[in-house]
Amino acid sequence: MPSGTAYFDNAATTMTLPEVAEAMRPYFTEMYGNPSSLHSMGADAAEALRKARKSVADALGCYPSEIIFTAGGTESDNMAVLGTFPGAGGRVVTTAIEHSAILETCGEVRRRGGASTLIPVDSEGFLDLSALDSAMGDDVYLVSVMAANNVIGTIEDIRECAKIAHEHGALFHTDAVQGFTKMDINVKRDGIDMLSLSGHKIHGPKGIGAFYVKSGTDIRPIVFGGGQENGLRSSTENVPGIVGLGKAVDIAMSNMGGDMRRMTEMRDRIIDSVLDIPGAALNGPRHDRLCNNAHFRFDGVKGNSLVLALSRNGVAVSTASACSAGDTEPSHVLSAIGLTPQQSMSALRVTLSHLNTDAEVDLLLKVLPDAVRECRV
Ligand SMILES: *Cc1c(COP(=O)(O)O)cnc(C)c1O
Repeated sequence: MPSGTAYFDNAATTMTLPEVAEAMRPYFTEMYGNPSSLHSMGADAAEALRKARKSVADALGCYPSEIIFTAGGTESDNMAVLGTFPGAGGRVVTTAIEHSAILETCGEVRRRGGASTLIPVDSEGFLDLSALDSAMGDDVYLVSVMAANNVIGTIEDIRECAKIAHEHGALFHTDAVQGFTKMDINVKRDGIDMLSLSGHKIHGPKGIGAFYVKSGTDIRPIVFGGGQENGLRSSTENVPGIVGLGKAVDIAMSNMGGDMRRMTEMRDRIIDSVLDIPGAALNGPRHDRLCNNAHFRFDGVKGNSLVLALSRNGVAVSTASACSAGDTEPSHVLSAIGLTPQQSMSALRVTLSHLNTDAEVDLLLKVLPDAVRECRV
């Protein structure tokens, strides 16, 4: 890896692949036209958007006209929750383990006179589907369930969630920022009305995302202006970012099977080896788990100290997530699976990419037992 660090924090962000950066470069300095311009430089930019939109649509199994480019996973999540909000009295149903991009947006729904319901998960992070069914009602306009959790890697049964939503006349949205390219998703087969994804979690650039919205869905914009992106997301398109996202999607989809197998192998080697450390336990499930996620807790250890000790040894990991700055509060995800605050604060998250090497895994597994011993208080 470039920095000489063994990087195991790929759920926080990933390296932009050199091929992706290279594909973007001409769109800064040569083909910098506005896609809405009529001249040839505008047409070149519009053509680049068309190509990237087709890449994303092919990866999800939808039409290019159903893809909106956004500024990232967060904005896509905001669009799903606020863009379909029918006004005061509307209720959104979601899970207790969503990313803050969903949970905080539900707070905004409540401030606008709506309501929200959080469905609990079991000790491995799987959504309680009967609780979801019971929570439904005429006032529910949207069910939003993440495809896979960013902290503990649990893969949710989104097909079943979509079915339940539709039985009760609600729309179904999934935050697939972590799951996209690491699990099998087809929006038509799975009955998904809206889906969020992000460039920088799949080796694309930061600040670019996509939003799938099924044609005919009753949705209004949350950003107003020049009417770009089918009127749903005004602002001059981030052409280099969109080109980078399209390239990252093409690369990820063409290598998906092999990459998943490699990451699964590394993940299982890490889990098996770490569980031999006294006082170590796995958070999240053994099966139906993201191929790149391993998450642990260590009795009597402060997760933050462990992250710093590993960092001194050239290994980059995290505790629960990197999504809220600071990390001084126990993660809501770990509370939701029933961990005590003390257990939550002893967490360590290892998230892989296909770029990780066996030698890096060796290094992690070599330095971790000593780091745990050193940090045990
Ligand atoms: C990272 C992440 C987001 C936010 O995506 P950004 O592109 O950083 O805005 C949303 N949901 C999940 C599950 C994530 O992991």
